[in-house]
Amino acid sequence: MKKIQMVDLKGQYSKIKQEVDRSILDVLDTTAFINGPKVHEFQKNLENYLGVKHVIPCANGTDALQIAMMGLGLKPGDEVITADFTFAATVEVIALLQLTPVLVDVDPISFNIDVDAIKRAITPKTKAIVPVHLFGQCANMEAIMEIAKDNNLYVIEDNAQAIGADYTYSDGTKAKAGTIGHVASTSFFPSKNLGCYGDGGAIFTNDDDLAHTIRGIVNHGMYVRYHHDVVGVNSRLDSIQAAILDIKLKYLDTYNKLRRQAAIKYTKALEGQDKIITPSGCSSCNELCETCDCHVFHQYTLKLVNSDRDALVSHLNEKGIPCGVYYPIPLHLQKAYKDERYKEEDFVVTNQLVKEVISLPMHTELDDDQIEYISSTIINFINR
Ligand SMILES: *Cc1c(COP(=O)(O)O)cnc(C)c1O
Repeated sequence: MKKIQMVDLKGQYSKIKQEVDRSILDVLDTTAFINGPKVHEFQKNLENYLGVKHVIPCANGTDALQIAMMGLGLKPGDEVITADFTFAATVEVIALLQLTPVLVDVDPISFNIDVDAIKRAITPKTKAIVPVHLFGQCANMEAIMEIAKDNNLYVIEDNAQAIGADYTYSDGTKAKAGTIGHVASTSFFPSKNLGCYGDGGAIFTNDDDLAHTIRGIVNHGMYVRYHHDVVGVNSRLDSIQAAILDIKLKYLDTYNKLRRQAAIKYTKALEGQDKIITPSGCSSCNELCETCDCHVFHQYTLKLVNSDRDALVSHLNEKGIPCGVYYPIPLHLQKAYKDERYKEEDFVVTNQLVKEVISLPMHTELDDDQIEYISSTIINFINR
């Protein structure tokens, strides 16, 4: 059996090496390292893939979130509601811009932001909601957009973990994750579903004016060369990363399908274990299905019932099985983001999830024997 890895970037690269290398060499030949034609080509191809009017590439997913918020003109003191159970980047940029983060609990099945908790958190100062499409599955966007409309709020989708996923509306129509809110951000960090070989990110929007504003912000607030109309930042996707991403974009659906097939195999292998809750399928299929893109499994995350999660983590590591705990501490308990207005009873789900979740190796190169070995090692340990 091949050595098990949390993410197998090398195995994936070796299958597309020729194409990727050629694309990188093209950039080296032209020396158009910044804002070269490859960046533009990738941007257009991603716009077509997503069905969104504007993709604005930038340096990383954290910048993308920050720039999206700057583009919306959010002001210090404005309240921004987001999930307590996510990667810290989301709340970090809110705080950096001197906006007020308002963390709320998540749903125990999907791990995504709880719609009722959003409703309870709205005040006259609330200006935006940032749903995070956690682990590869969209938040309840239909309900969130409705709340936003009723309360005149912006919706910024943090789509770092769900690129390529479909969101299904209650009438059966679908839209790609990141094309539903007013604006969205994504990350091309190497381990993301569409990862480059360094740092990268992008902002998506269907709003022409907002796209124009954001294009200036990413470039020092310039709309006309050396005329700085607003305070901007320097955040660029370099041409070599764009050249790599443009090749990998062609394989994104295949990659997401391979992840989903691995997820289905895990779920089958772990079925019937009363101490394990496997990830949910989408609301439209109610199960994991191979054909629909409702879940793109950035992570395959189990919940353990009445078991010692940390002991399992150690055991798996001893057996040569890497695994992750995303996320071990609720954001509202992090030193940087504590706030006396938070009450523990408002975070019942997150406080429980941080003790129960474990994410298994998930990537495009997993073999059946690896999945079997991982699953049987887990089952043997929790029933020991
Ligand atoms: C990865 C990630 C980010 C940040 O992306 P970077 O490119 O690493 O800056 C933001 N939000 C979420 C949910 C992420 O998973």
